[in-house]
Amino acid sequence: MRTTRPPRTRPRLPLLVALACAGSAALAGCAPADGAEPTADGDGRLGVVASFYPLEWLSEQVAGDRATVTSLTPPAAEPHEYELTPGDVAATAGADLVVYLPTLQPSVDAAVDQQAGDHAFDAGAAADLDLVYSPEHGDEHAGDEHAGGDDPGDGAVTDPHFWHDPMRMAAVGDALAERLGAVDPAGAAVYTANAAALRQQLDALDTEFRTGLATCASRDIVTSHSAFGYLAEAFGLHQVGISGLAPDEEPAPSALTGATAFVREHGVSTIYFETLVSPAVADTVARETGAQTRQLDPIEGLTDASQGTDYLQVMRSNLASLRAGQQCS
Ligand SMILES: [Zn+2]
Repeated sequence: MRTTRPPRTRPRLPLLVALACAGSAALAGCAPADGAEPTADGDGRLGVVASFYPLEWLSEQVAGDRATVTSLTPPAAEPHEYELTPGDVAATAGADLVVYLPTLQPSVDAAVDQQAGDHAFDAGAAADLDLVYSPEHGDEHAGDEHAGGDDPGDGAVTDPHFWHDPMRMAAVGDALAERLGAVDPAGAAVYTANAAALRQQLDALDTEFRTGLATCASRDIVTSHSAFGYLAEAFGLHQVGISGLAPDEEPAPSALTGATAFVREHGVSTIYFETLVSPAVADTVARETGAQTRQLDPIEGLTDASQGTDYLQVMRSNLASLRAGQQCS
């Protein structure tokens, strides 16, 4: 279940435990290992607050049963524009660790800045984000491609959508294990082992994508918003997002015209739509060009329309969708 965590109003160390511990440091649940701050919730688990679904799933895999993981973004909400409630902000303040992705959700960035600066884990740093999106050019490049003086133009920003690259997910899993081990030293070995097991699964997924997308009639993917840059980079595809880095129900006419022209010029047969935003944008370009539409899930949140119940399942359904849409053999 992915539910929004209710506000955590408890003090870090409940009063009764504090009183008991004053009498005997030997009592279970009193002095934490290695002098770390007591972190156990009422159920003895860490409280990890993830900003949205991919990080919630990743945190669950790495923390296992040593943490209760909740997501700030409700399952069916579109995360880019989601505004945190006062309860969400309180949850970031009360968490043992907040796992988030800077720039994806401005509302979360603000809450972390104000409430969780000392207990936040930046997934983007661990993912080694190196794609720079240029609104001026409507495309993106690895950051170092611009080092030689190729100016990406005004408003160029780093693309945060790393989770479609399984090996970047694995890297974030390893870094998260290390951070959790610092918060909860008694669990460090468990977190490391969980991250290693996760890496194996992601490695297998990466191989499936690499094999499945090796030979395709088209390598151009036209998507609703530019959520698949790292997937494209990892597996040799070229993404054209109709909207920019965030979904836009009403993209500029020039964006629609540009995408339509690209589809015609390159003989693109499939336009991909998403689960959390209206398919109208993809439908418009498809109608103009005679292309078909197909679902490609950015996995920014799961809904009843999702083709699977967790990250791995939806990734595999995305692979099937890409193989059909790009006519891969
Ligand atoms: Zn997105």
